[in-house]
Amino acid sequence: MKVLVLNCGSSSLKYQLIDSDTEDVLAKGLCERIGIDGSNIAHQPAGGEKVKEEADMPDHTAAVKIVIAKLTDEKVGVISSLAEIGAVGHRVVHGGEDFSGAVVIDEAVIHAIEGCNDLAPLHNPANLIGIRSCQAIMPGVPMVAVFDTAFHQSMPKKAYLYGLPYEYYRKYKIRRYGFHGTSHDFVSKRAAEILGKDRKDLKIIVCHLGNGASVSAVKYGESVDTSMGLTPLEGLIMGTRSGDMDPAILSFLAEKEGLDAAQVIEICNKKSGVLGLSDGASSDFRDLVQASEEGNEQAGNALEAYAYRVGKYIGAYAAAMNGVDVIAFTAGVGENNAEVRAMVARYIGYLGTNIDPERNRIRGEEVILSDGGAKVVTMVVPTNEELAIARETVRLAAES
Ligand code: ADP
Repeated sequence: MKVLVLNCGSSSLKYQLIDSDTEDVLAKGLCERIGIDGSNIAHQPAGGEKVKEEADMPDHTAAVKIVIAKLTDEKVGVISSLAEIGAVGHRVVHGGEDFSGAVVIDEAVIHAIEGCNDLAPLHNPANLIGIRSCQAIMPGVPMVAVFDTAFHQSMPKKAYLYGLPYEYYRKYKIRRYGFHGTSHDFVSKRAAEILGKDRKDLKIIVCHLGNGASVSAVKYGESVDTSMGLTPLEGLIMGTRSGDMDPAILSFLAEKEGLDAAQVIEICNKKSGVLGLSDGASSDFRDLVQASEEGNEQAGNALEAYAYRVGKYIGAYAAAMNGVDVIAFTAGVGENNAEVRAMVARYIGYLGTNIDPERNRIRGEEVILSDGGAKVVTMVVPTNEELAIARETVRLAAES
């Protein structure tokens, strides 16, 4: 079956068409500036050149139509008609407490996703627009929602409750939800597979280190803790997000700088992390490694603070699971940035990771970093959220 995987943002739409039998990506692309002047699409058929062009996309429905036109185009298309698309998988950011797994989309599901809008005001409404647009253009095609939060719904209360008056959990559902769940699930499963073991027998720490970054503790197949919280702002220092900090900083900074709460949160989301720590040098880890090697001290400090925080979380999750068998690095930085991995390695050697510096040089591939005598196997497992969404979509579409 051919599955269209969609990830709608407020003004963007990422897509992949995947052949679920071979698991090959047939085509992929990105629509940007939807609803804004200068909207454009970059489309790439497998094995072909990427073509980028301006296209009129006043809304997401128009964008989905243009994606379909590209997929069925004589020159750059990969299917002959819309009818070849057997199912659509939608990435949905927040499923709240309603969804602990992917679901076939119906009106009740849409209503429940709307109910989570408060928890992800930038993402969920955009995801819903994508769903509605596809329903309008492809009536009768099964659609599945795959949630970023779902995999973490197995966390116990002690991990997801904050030390706040309980009534705020009761009234507003303020708690840890966690994100990147599709990736943590995919990578922990794949890590076990590579080792020829059952995930149900392993304690795995997954470090998803991208622009956004989170760590999870996956014990015997279930997420028992993760570093992102009510929103993706908590946890690790990220590209532009602060991660953990004393919440009193919010009012302190607001008063000093004459800002309101929303403005301070904006700073914590967009101007902080390694971008802020490096004094604005970059949010991109490649740039920071280079800048640091060229003697930019702040870039070096930012990387060190980043690696230190990752190391602390690994220690915390080894404690949370009363042990750890596997540590898996994934996403842009985790897969590719050998320098950052080497910095993290310095904080976790006591676990018996025995990371081999030679193997650690490898980029973007499945690789076991530890040598034969390691007590804890450290590895790189490239994530593939689109493939995970396609697999879930096929599984559920078959049942619907
Ligand atoms: P997101 O999906 O959260 O936007 P990614 O997982 O794509 O982010 O990660 C982006 C980060 O990965 C960037 O900081 C980038 O520097 C880093 N990265 C990507 N490729 C490489 C590479 N080949 N070498 C080093 N770092 C890389």
